[in-house]
Amino acid sequence: MPTECIRAIVTGYADYRDNDRMLTLFSAERGRIDCKARNCRKPTAPLLSCTQPFVFGEFELFFNNDRATVNGCEVRETFYPLREDVDRFMCASAATQLCNAVIEHESEDRQLFSLLYHILSFLAYTESDPRDLLIAFMLHYLDHAGYRPSLTRCAICRRDVRQDAVLYYSTDAGGVVCAACPHGGRAVSKIALEAMRRILLLSHEELTRVVLKDELKRELYAILRNSCAKMLGEGDRAVALLDQIL
Ligand SMILES: [Zn+2]
Repeated sequence: MPTECIRAIVTGYADYRDNDRMLTLFSAERGRIDCKARNCRKPTAPLLSCTQPFVFGEFELFFNNDRATVNGCEVRETFYPLREDVDRFMCASAATQLCNAVIEHESEDRQLFSLLYHILSFLAYTESDPRDLLIAFMLHYLDHAGYRPSLTRCAICRRDVRQDAVLYYSTDAGGVVCAACPHGGRAVSKIALEAMRRILLLSHEELTRVVLKDELKRELYAILRNSCAKMLGEGDRAVALLDQIL
């Protein structure tokens, strides 16, 4: 098998032996690629800089019987400021873990790649609140995965609920639920529903426009965390990370 050049972001790693590392790469064209990086953890290793989390680069990979090894890499972006701020690092880790939970081998996913690339850029290089960015990421991520919440119609009876005074949110039903339907008792504010509707109208380039007050941030974060847990399972690593950030 030949060597191939693949543009990708490092979305995960696991160290093994003294100096080696197993990398998870996310490529827009090829989806998930698991590959070995040998001798990359020595201080003088040529692969040291490209085997760090969040690095975006052109990876030269050698394929042998479906196993990939990193030969070299031209780093395009390190998103280095993420390493200097715990909150931003945690939110970037949650975003990459959420991607790892859904990306598949040999499966093109330009939309999700674009979303991740923009969120890492904004987390690293803008003053935006990292939790606002993570909330925007989670909502677009869920939408991309087919879990777009119902926001103006009851997720059960499909009635338009925009004039209703009291509304609930049901993760199981997939959105807002009216008082007449079995709702589970978790009330949702109208401002939270409107915020989600507006965030979903934004393009990836516009996600720094999301600025949320603390109370609204908490409400949205809980809703989206529960939706991710429903989709991935409560035991998923990404969900555990979301709970740490909360
Ligand atoms: Zn209803």
